[in-house]
Amino acid sequence: VWAKCLEIIRQEVNEQSFKTWFEPIVPLRIQHNTLTIQVPSQFFYEWLEENYVHALRKAIDYTLGRQGMLEYSIIVDKGDRKNPPIALNVPNQKSTTPPPVQRRPEPTIYESPFQLKDLDSLELDSYLNPHYAFDNFVEGDCNRLGRSAGLAVAQRPGVTSFNPLMIYGGVGLGKTHLIQAIGNYIKSTQSNKFVLYVSSEKFVNQFINAIRNNTLQAFTNFYMQIDVLILDDVQFLAGKEKTQESFFHIFNHLHQSGKQIIMSSDRPPRDLAGMQDRLLSRFKWGLTADLQQPDFETRIAIIQKKLQADGIYIKDEVIEYLAHSVDTNVRELEGVIVSLMAHASLNRREIDMDLARTTLKNIVVDNEKEITVDNIFDAIIAHFDVTMTDLKGKSRKKEIVFPRQVAMYLMKEFTNLPLKSIGYHFGGRDHSTVIHAVQNISVLIDSDKDVEGRIQKLYKHFNRVRVRA
Ligand code: ADP
Ligand code: MG
Repeated sequence: VWAKCLEIIRQEVNEQSFKTWFEPIVPLRIQHNTLTIQVPSQFFYEWLEENYVHALRKAIDYTLGRQGMLEYSIIVDKGDRKNPPIALNVPNQKSTTPPPVQRRPEPTIYESPFQLKDLDSLELDSYLNPHYAFDNFVEGDCNRLGRSAGLAVAQRPGVTSFNPLMIYGGVGLGKTHLIQAIGNYIKSTQSNKFVLYVSSEKFVNQFINAIRNNTLQAFTNFYMQIDVLILDDVQFLAGKEKTQESFFHIFNHLHQSGKQIIMSSDRPPRDLAGMQDRLLSRFKWGLTADLQQPDFETRIAIIQKKLQADGIYIKDEVIEYLAHSVDTNVRELEGVIVSLMAHASLNRREIDMDLARTTLKNIVVDNEKEITVDNIFDAIIAHFDVTMTDLKGKSRKKEIVFPRQVAMYLMKEFTNLPLKSIGYHFGGRDHSTVIHAVQNISVLIDSDKDVEGRIQKLYKHFNRVRVRA
């Protein structure tokens, strides 16, 4: 039946849309007169419903008759949990809204000593977000050490010398994702271990409440029975002497009993002002690894992963454009993808270069900045040991000819100037000199690693990405 449906749909929509929106669909079953199809994501389902209801209706009418119905089953988190099917597209019937996202109950168990006594009978919540996994944490040069140390800890918590494991790095670079991935991994492989994720802010609040309610002992006892303690954003403990003291005792107890401690911070331990020295020295017992800004390739991989998770296909050129334009951190990159998908579905448009440009216009300004001849001269003078007079002058010395040719090459790449005008900026050289320079540098880039590296650096200086021919 589904094959027949596809045949009909193919006549209704264009090739590209068919490939993007219909090929990924998996037919699940037919029961009575209801066909159930599986779609990769919520976004995917909404898109189909908004844009292709008529094509779908037509196909269902043709194959199952006017009474025919279509149900969607949406894959959530790699298919290990599924939303109940959503019925829709019945004539004259509005589609039902998707089921609400389940909210975690607020933590209460360690607020009162009485409840603490019942701990054994309670289902212990780790406060981990199951979405954070190693599978969807894209590896790159920027995070290799942290990721592999994290994996080692996840496989053998408390046993490796990475105890504590301290992950640090700027905002939105994946600290929370990585440390929670460790927790999720341990929970799924060693279910007897009590894993707890807690933000430092929450830890401080719990501590303050414990003091206020006279339940400090219960608070400490609770933390001392944890097998894997994951404390996020420890920089938040800075200046909070009493909380640090309490954490110090918990830390020592856990560490001595071979329990694993994992922490994150927005800066390296040495820069954690307001943190007690004895605590800082403990942090150094294990391994400290940083997360850096993702490079271009990693950004591409991250975008692809996100799109894949949502079942969306977009052209490589659009992906490259996004990776090129957003190089601050992963959270922003994700934000851009999400708003792109929102724009697409609001305006009922495919995600193409045009839409990407319009969407990004409001977000990325810097990238559109024009690069001028003066900018290029400045950069060349800063990167090489030459002066403006050298560049414009007649010298044939290698140390000067090379930077001069690189300058011409960059002007050809970054400005819209005709070759003749470029030559003019170099003491009135003619356009064939510029052509020669551009050719020469192009050849060197492909054959000489050192030259390639220098050019990459200059591209980076201008926030541009060199796309290979
Ligand atoms: P931080 O805690 O360092 O501020 P997060 O862990 O909250 O950053 O990461 C921000 C977002 O970016 C999250 O949605 C996370 O899933 C995503 N993210 C970060 N690094 C990666 C990566 N290497 N691969 C895939 N997603 C990532
Ligand atoms: Mg975080």
